[in-house]
Amino acid sequence: MGNLSIRPLNTGTVAPAKGVFYHELLYKVYNPPERMDGTPVFCFLVEGGDKPLLVDTGISDVEHAYKYHGSTRQPEGTSILEHLKKLGYAPDDIGYVVLTHLHWDHCFYLKHFTKAHIFAHPKEIAFANDPIPMSYMAYEHPIIGVQNQFGGLRLELVEEGAEIIPGVTVIETPGHSPGHITVCVSAPSGEYLCVGDAIMHRDNLKEVKDLYYNVSPPGRFSSLIETWKSLEKLKASAKAPEYLLLAHDKELISRIEASPVLS
Ligand SMILES: [Zn+2]
Repeated sequence: MGNLSIRPLNTGTVAPAKGVFYHELLYKVYNPPERMDGTPVFCFLVEGGDKPLLVDTGISDVEHAYKYHGSTRQPEGTSILEHLKKLGYAPDDIGYVVLTHLHWDHCFYLKHFTKAHIFAHPKEIAFANDPIPMSYMAYEHPIIGVQNQFGGLRLELVEEGAEIIPGVTVIETPGHSPGHITVCVSAPSGEYLCVGDAIMHRDNLKEVKDLYYNVSPPGRFSSLIETWKSLEKLKASAKAPEYLLLAHDKELISRIEASPVLS
């Protein structure tokens, strides 16, 4: 196993409607609240390689989020830039940024990382630049008057099996969005999978025996079939459930209070 470590960084919280995390056919099974208050937006700092690597860059400042996306909380000092500053890093110190997908809450502040190689999947870049109208907001498409974070940047392309640095590889996990990827990080205790939004909530991993479901899909996706296959793939790939690191995992908040670095 590798010698890399991972620091989950919570960049703010949002309150998505229950339909984002749970397919409507599963409301009766899980009985979720109307809004999922206090949902974190994690990105992940990987240390121990030649240069620090980020998986996603997190959510925007509150002013921008309110203006274009509704309710958001970002306590003082928790934007990705402030997190890095507290850890002794300037944006220019970051060598690599790997984007699970290009939704606005995963790639904000991207333009600050001027020295980094920035990676995304070609299908994600193609769709982000030409989304269906229902996805204009998620990608902050210029057509609705918002300047997205990836426009004008040179994104490097990654597909299934690509190695970013020794110990960090990419697997394809589409469905939440067309070119969604998962970033696999080799740490001393095992391989962590930074799954982005391929798993929206830990309940998505559960079986529903009465319905013969082997997973419980979320309700928002670009493809339900791909979402389902990616959930199966991630479930089968992880050493144990705690090695799956979800961008919006509430449980991770208390977990990192006890141990802020995973290795
Ligand atoms: Zn997303």
